[in-house]
Order: sequence, then C-alpha cells, then structure tokens
Amino acid sequence: MFLGFGGNVGDTAAIFRSAFGALGAFLEGPRMSSLYRTKPRYREDQPPFLNAAVSGRTRLAPLELLAALQAVEAGHGRDRSREVFKGPRTLDIDILLYGEAVLSLPGLDVPHPGLPERLFALVPLLELSPGLRDPRTGKPFAEFASALPDQGIYLEGEGGL
Ligand code: ADP
Ligand code: MG
Repeated sequence: MFLGFGGNVGDTAAIFRSAFGALGAFLEGPRMSSLYRTKPRYREDQPPFLNAAVSGRTRLAPLELLAALQAVEAGHGRDRSREVFKGPRTLDIDILLYGEAVLSLPGLDVPHPGLPERLFALVPLLELSPGLRDPRTGKPFAEFASALPDQGIYLEGEGGL
C-alpha cells in the first residue's frame, strides 16, 4: 500500500515525521521517500508544498485505512471545515495504491484518480518502487511520469522554489 503526503502550512518536515510515526500503529514495514518541494497545482496563490510517499503493509480494509489516515491528518492540525478547496493545509494523506486493487467506493477511489497526472505524487512513489504499474491499465507509472511536462518538483534542500 502506498500513501501520498502533502502539506504547506507549518513545519511540514516535522509534521511528516510525526505523522509517519503515528502510522506505525497500523502500518507494518513503513518506508518514507525523500521530501520534495513542489509548485502548487490547481491554486497557485499559496506557498510551495512538501510532498513524500510512504509505503507499508496494513491489515486495515480500505475504508478503515482512509478513516485512520483522516484521524492522523486531524491530529496534525487539519481542519477540513475551515479549508479552501485545494488550498493550504498542514497535512494531506492520500491513498495512492492499495495493492493491485481498483476501487470506486463512496469517498474512496483507488488508485488515486490524480496520480497519473501529478508528478508530486508519481516522483516520490517511483523513488520507493520504480517498477510499479497502474493496476487499471498495466502501464508502468514511470511511463506516465516521463510523458508529463515539467511541473516544478525539487528534492528538498537542492534549491528551486
Ligand atoms: P484533496 O483532493 O486535495 O486530497 P481532501 O484531502 O480534502 O482533498 O480529500 C477530499 C476527499 O477525497 C476525501 O474526503 C476522501 O473521501 C476523498 N478520496 C477519494 N479517494 C481518495 C483516496 N484515494 N485517498 C484519499 N482520499 C480520497
Ligand atoms: Mg486528500
């Protein structure tokens, strides 16, 4: 199972470390990618984001996992009721992939529908697991990534943005 982390409010690197620790309650063998600084998409009038991917195994069913992740978001200052759509947030955790599952449930689509078009999700994901394929089409995610134009994504600490 692969998750995408994002945030641009507060000390995001510290928030990611803390959230990654909290995931240990229900993730086995957790791994986190490097942090990437990324240009905001959809709404450009906000600070750059940090993004990362996390992998691990879980016994939680998909909707249970989503609820557990939303509790971790809330525990790190996320308050959806006070947020601008696609705007600044302390911590966003998306389920990018859940094994090979293709799910369309109320409030949960897996693979995450934005994944094929978002380098801020694809690049950290491919760092953790370069050979991953889209369970819908069988196409390697690396092919989606290499076909996309530059979206502004930089390894944290290497400059840019
Ligand atoms: P964003 O689209 O920026 O991630 P939110 O985090 O507020 O915005 O998510 C909006 C809704 O997306 C959530 O309430 C959740 O139910 C739904 N959702 C659908 N598929 C997924 C997924 N794969 N991972 C996380 N949330 C998802
Ligand atoms: Mg989200």
